[in-house]
Parts: sequence; C-alpha cells; structure tokens
Amino acid sequence: MTGLSGSSVVVTGAGSGIGRAAALRFAEEGARVVVADLNVDGAKAVVAEIEAAGGTAVAVTGDLSDPAMVEQVVSTAVDTFGGLDVLVNNAGIMDRMTATADVTDEEWERLIRVNLTAPFQLTRAVLPHMLAKGKGAIVYTASEAGLRGSASGTAYTVSKHGIVGLTRSTAIMYRNSGIRVNAIAPGGTMTNISASMGGMPEGYGPQTLGPYMPNVGRIAEADEQAAAIVFLASDAASNINGVVLPVDNGWSAV
Ligand code: NAD
Repeated sequence: MTGLSGSSVVVTGAGSGIGRAAALRFAEEGARVVVADLNVDGAKAVVAEIEAAGGTAVAVTGDLSDPAMVEQVVSTAVDTFGGLDVLVNNAGIMDRMTATADVTDEEWERLIRVNLTAPFQLTRAVLPHMLAKGKGAIVYTASEAGLRGSASGTAYTVSKHGIVGLTRSTAIMYRNSGIRVNAIAPGGTMTNISASMGGMPEGYGPQTLGPYMPNVGRIAEADEQAAAIVFLASDAASNINGVVLPVDNGWSAV
C-alpha cells in the first residue's frame, strides 16, 4: 500500500526527536534507512533499535553543514542500498528567539547553513539519482515558523520560510519527472530541540513571543509528525506535490 517496502530512505536528524520517530516508522514499513546525524550515540542507538526489530539501517554521522557529510550521506545510500528513493530533510536547530537587530552573524550563518543550505545541497545531490529512476519523494521538516512570524526568532523564521520556498520551487520544477516534494510544518513538538538553543540572550525569552504563543495548543509527540512524513513519502500521497502540511493541532488555522 505505501510502496515503501524495500525502498532506500535517508532521514537526516534521525538520531533524535522527529527524525528518530520517522526512521523507526520507515523501517516498520520495510524501508532500509540511512540514519544521518551529528549525534553519534543517538544515530547508533536508532540503528540498533531498527535492527533489533528486524529492520535494516546504517548510521552516517557528521555535521550536515559540511558538504563532505552531504556527499557521504548520499553515497552511503547509493552504495549500501543500491539507490535512493526517499529523502527526508529533517535535521534542524533553533535560534535563540532573537529579534533582527540582535541577531549575530554567527547565529544567522549557522541557522541558514544547517536549516536551509544543507537541505538544499542534499536535495541537489539526490535529484540525479531520482531522475534516473523516474521516481522519488522528498519531504522537508519546515515549521510553524515557516508559515508565520511569531513562532521563533528571525534567523530560524527565515530559514524555515526558505524551506517552504525550496519545497514549492523544487516540486514545480520536477512535477513531470515522477518526483514529489512536500513538507510538514510542525507546531510545538516534544523533542530535544531546545538543547540546540544554547540559552537565550538577555531580554529574550517567553516575554518576546509570549503574547503570540497562546495559540500553540497541545504539544505533539514526535511520532505524530513522523506519521505525516511517512504518509507524504508514500504512494498513498501519489498525487500530493508542493504541499506544506501543518501538523499543529490547528495553530495555523487560528
Ligand atoms: P531534535 O533536536 O530532537 O532532533 C534534531 C536532530 O538533528 C538531532 O539529533 C541533532 O543532532 C540533528 N542535527 C542538528 N544539527 C545537525 C547538523 N548540523 N548535522 C547533522 N545533524 C544535525 O529536534 P526535533 O524537534 O526532532 O527537530 C527536527 C526538525 O523539526 C527540525 O528541523 C526542527 O526545526 C523541526 N521542528 C521542530 C519543532 C518542535 O517543536 N520540536 C517544531 C517545528 C519544527
């Protein structure tokens, strides 16, 4: 039904949170999974979890802001599993809720590199393999911050708006090539993402965006995001292309 059995799937940021939950779900569907993450212990633990359940996975560890890691992720999928059917561009980091005048060059460049440039480079690297097959699915993890201005600081918000543009542009450019490109836009979700914030600068915190936050609603489990990712990657979504799907308990409907 899903068409995922035996497929080769790359999930970035699969050592934790939403990516981990997606990797486990893909493996349950019979897919072979490349677990790509900066966190060596997390990636290895997810591979072990998949293998213990009878599935197939391989870890590739390193920083995706390094183009060499991007190449390694793709070549591992191709060399180990004979190709690449699905790319889930999920790895991401938070900013420190900082407003434009206080965003440092360092924060800006790191956020854009990890959250936007790396997904673009991975997409560029997998497309030739998908085009050769005439089939493929790409799913991005955008964010509520890709849909509105009140879900994080400036750098994160810009990076996720960029992901929305990357999703739509790539979907249109390849719509007649058998390749579908979609995104989920999670609302608040229970993961380890706040660890990437490294603390907020003085003057920032709940008071910055607090007035806008009451609409967040229920905090989701990572697996609720993973279910939407696997659906968009599967044949069940065969006519869904260029969509940014909020998975946010209605936050974006407010
Ligand atoms: P998480 O921190 O639990 O998982 C993110 C994973 O990405 C981690 O394992 C981390 O090591 C990895 N990672 C980060 N930078 C990396 C890099 N440079 N190279 C390789 N791996 C890297 O957080 P999560 O919430 O599961 O985040 C997944 C995605 O969901 C992110 O893109 C995030 O922006 C998005 N998102 C999360 C929420 C939320 O509330 N948790 C809401 C909206 C969007």
